[in-house]
Amino acid sequence: MALSGLDIFKLLPRTNCGDCGVPTCMAFAMKLAQKKAELGECPHASDEAKDSLGAASEPPIRLIKIGGANALEIGNETVMFRHDKTFFHQTGIAIELLTSEDIGDLKKKIEEIENYRVERVGEELFIDLFFIRHNTDKKDNFLETIHAAQNFSSKGLILDCPSIETLKKGLEICKDNRPAIYLREAATNQDFELAKTFNASLILFADSLESLETQSEKAREVGFSDLILNLKSRNLGLQLQDNTILRRSALRNNFKPFGFPLFSYIRGATVYESLAEASVLLCKYDSIIVLPEYSKALLYALFTLRQNIYTDPQKPIQVDPKIYPIGDPTPDSPVFVTTNFSLTYFMVSGEIENSGISSHLVIADVEGQSVLTAWAAGKFVGETVAKFIKDIGLEDLVKTRKIVIPGFVSQISGDLEESLPGWEVIVGPQEASDIPSFVKNVQLT
Ligand code: SF4
Repeated sequence: MALSGLDIFKLLPRTNCGDCGVPTCMAFAMKLAQKKAELGECPHASDEAKDSLGAASEPPIRLIKIGGANALEIGNETVMFRHDKTFFHQTGIAIELLTSEDIGDLKKKIEEIENYRVERVGEELFIDLFFIRHNTDKKDNFLETIHAAQNFSSKGLILDCPSIETLKKGLEICKDNRPAIYLREAATNQDFELAKTFNASLILFADSLESLETQSEKAREVGFSDLILNLKSRNLGLQLQDNTILRRSALRNNFKPFGFPLFSYIRGATVYESLAEASVLLCKYDSIIVLPEYSKALLYALFTLRQNIYTDPQKPIQVDPKIYPIGDPTPDSPVFVTTNFSLTYFMVSGEIENSGISSHLVIADVEGQSVLTAWAAGKFVGETVAKFIKDIGLEDLVKTRKIVIPGFVSQISGDLEESLPGWEVIVGPQEASDIPSFVKNVQLT
């Protein structure tokens, strides 16, 4: 049973030395109880406290790392629902590489996947892992694929190989980069030893909750805990149900055998089926999904979903409030104003660029809210926008005295003109996509 803050406090030294980064032992005990700290942060904890609190202070879902310098971190989640707090470690997306393919083609594919990066609302989105499946009897293909993935890419590796001897050789190549081993059958003590020897995580395979629990317990008995759980359910509905049971058991009941990140191999017969399956499991609650094919259309949709799900709902994505030059603006260039919600900024700046004109884009500080939300909250109104414009010195930067506001807040134009004497306020389009046609038809300076 989880210990309360007071239970934990009784086991701490109670000297209030502050070496753990918080001023008192009670404050540290409360952080431990909320799983926001680890006992190792108190250098003075007694052995008795370590024995008693070790398990209690472990995070409910273990943090697992796969890869070298830029390792993918998964797990360590604390809530069932994103809006309760946030999801911390986003789902890693892996692409399968089959060693039956021509090795030259595999190398090209590895390079292409390594270089595939997409920018969206200021973030770079990319594939996280390679899943190397050895499906031929040519041992050298497996080893060469691992070498190629190590040489041409910084992504972490998951190895799936039916031959233990070939697997060992493969692990030898990548053991410094924390690989993961995919199991096709129930784990044995030999598998745990192998993973320990090569500094690898182990992906347990099971077709029932009972089998998964037994294997996980067995691993814990031999002191191995870098586990990832792969529970194969009969269909997507049952998979969703099983994933929910696993997550709830770990978080609500502190059930240690299920306190590990989850894994799925996506099996859709078409790209649309794969997208549907991957989307459901990305939301609830897989930490790794493996895609059998490299499809940019599928990936872009999943990147977008993943970015939305794993953004902290309490912290809107925002850009710095300031004047952004679009193109190569001069003091005579037009001026647009909008809010510092990232999506708004990237859409408006992109469409101004598309229109082919240079301009000054004033991004007002509204704590990352969209235009209408900020207006409704009284943060994007004539008076506040005028104050921001004066504070950042726009009037010294430009000669023009015309400013374009978003069409959705046409109602602030009168107040803004009153608060900015000498300026003419032009109501722009409601949709950013209409900016190119708007600038062609309206005199902006
Ligand atoms: S480091 Fe340990 S003893 Fe010192 S305040 Fe923190 S919990 Fe208490």
